[in-house]
Amino acid sequence: MPGELHRGDRIGWLRAAVLGANDGLISTSSLVVGVAAAEPDRAAILLAAVAGLAAGALSMAAGEYVSVSSQADTENADLSRERGELAETPEAEHAELAQIYVSRGLTPELARQVADHLTAHDALGAHARDELGIHELTRARPIQAAVASAASFAVGAAPPAILAAVLPMPVLSPGIVGVTLVLLAALGGVAAHLGGAPLTRGALRVAFWGAVAMGCTALVGRLFGAVV
Ligand SMILES: [Zn+2]
Repeated sequence: MPGELHRGDRIGWLRAAVLGANDGLISTSSLVVGVAAAEPDRAAILLAAVAGLAAGALSMAAGEYVSVSSQADTENADLSRERGELAETPEAEHAELAQIYVSRGLTPELARQVADHLTAHDALGAHARDELGIHELTRARPIQAAVASAASFAVGAAPPAILAAVLPMPVLSPGIVGVTLVLLAALGGVAAHLGGAPLTRGALRVAFWGAVAMGCTALVGRLFGAVV
């Protein structure tokens, strides 16, 4: 069971990283293709790519920081309430812990012994784990979460930004669209695989919506470029 928990936790992180890279890839490619449709000028396109990468990574970091912080606040409030209960009503807390182990299948006698030992060893830790479901491994870590999501977004945004710098202008948009669709399909396949879903369907779905996003921004860019 602990092994499975570790595995689930790692997959959670991997999925978040894949989704972040997916976001970075779609939004930066769409931005570049949209700007290129309006204004076929290398400097403007590069500026859009870099600004899009930075803005996206920072907004992902900020959003993740806020959401994981509030989760951490909730966990800390639960822990401090539990700490208070342990100090004020230790017997009731002991009985509560034993009852949890009985509900998981231990005999009352064994559950009492387990509760004795765990209370002596680390009462708060035992209540956090078995009553509140807070594990050291799954604790909310706002800074880590913020850095990880900004980094995964930047990793996804890097290929279109680099291509915007190096591809010859005439093939810039088609080249970026092509590479992006291939990478999106690969990421979609990985995400589907991690979630236990069929690989090809996941790959096609992500590539399809990526194509829609790039097509829409190219259209907006073209219309806006024609007006301006
Ligand atoms: Zn408790």
